[in-house]
Amino acid sequence: MSAGAANKGVALITGGSRGIGRACALGLAEDGFDVVVNYVGNKGAADEVVAAITAKGRKAVAVQGDVSVEADVAAIFAAADKLGTLKALVNNAGVVDIAQPVVEMSTARFRRMFDINVMGSFFCAREAIKRMSTRLGGTGGAIVNMSSIAPRLGAPGQYVDYAAAKGAIDAFTLGLGREVANEGIRVNGVQPGLIETDIHASGGIPDRIEQLKSSIPIKRGGTADEIAEAVRWLVSDKASYAVGSLITVSGGR
Ligand code: NAP
Repeated sequence: MSAGAANKGVALITGGSRGIGRACALGLAEDGFDVVVNYVGNKGAADEVVAAITAKGRKAVAVQGDVSVEADVAAIFAAADKLGTLKALVNNAGVVDIAQPVVEMSTARFRRMFDINVMGSFFCAREAIKRMSTRLGGTGGAIVNMSSIAPRLGAPGQYVDYAAAKGAIDAFTLGLGREVANEGIRVNGVQPGLIETDIHASGGIPDRIEQLKSSIPIKRGGTADEIAEAVRWLVSDKASYAVGSLITVSGGR
């Protein structure tokens, strides 16, 4: 990371404390952004990301907030406004639940899956557009939505709710991308395959990648950095013609 790199404004990463979001936060800081590292419960992890960024000469702040709660989203964006001009949003925060067939899933589970994975991205995108849109007086920006290859697989018997929520994110990315392209905002998405993060343990299968890696053409799980590379490209001016694109980064799965 170079402290001398031109300042590109503020990047807000939801769920920036761990896993893919953490890699995006560190990578975008390296690319010249000051960073808002949102987290929901793991303050220590968020503080560690902030410390790594500030040690390299960029500004960063850890902001607690649940993306599915509108008041929290307002507070997260208020913190971003204090840091500078918002130029990038990575809608990364996401959750899975334990593997179950749909018939056994509770209503609370359905709602949580859609509230965090879908509504959270809508709430954050709306706030970002208010700030970025050239039609509304902003200077443009980029939004990257974290999807998955799950919508293509359907995740039967395990996470059909999650796959459906990510399918909604893909439609959201396409529609919003076309809606705001003429307002200086590029909206795109990334569809990771199986990536080495804590999310698999949170779904009750910590060795999920080990179990499934023989089915991945490249025969291994991916790293969070390998996903962050795609996010960094989509945020950058190098992706100036990418609108509503969904980049699959899945080792061929
Ligand atoms: P992870 O390691 O479990 O990290 C999740 C991150 O999201 C943490 O920073 C967590 O904060 C935050 N978070 C969770 N709920 C939140 C909420 N309600 N509000 C704000 N932040 C919240 O997950 P990951 O594997 O990096 O996944 C990141 C994204 O990639 C998700 O959208 C996921 O669906 C997607 N994805 C992952 C994979 C994979 O194989 N890992 C594959 C495809 C797609 P705390 O640290 O405070 O808990």
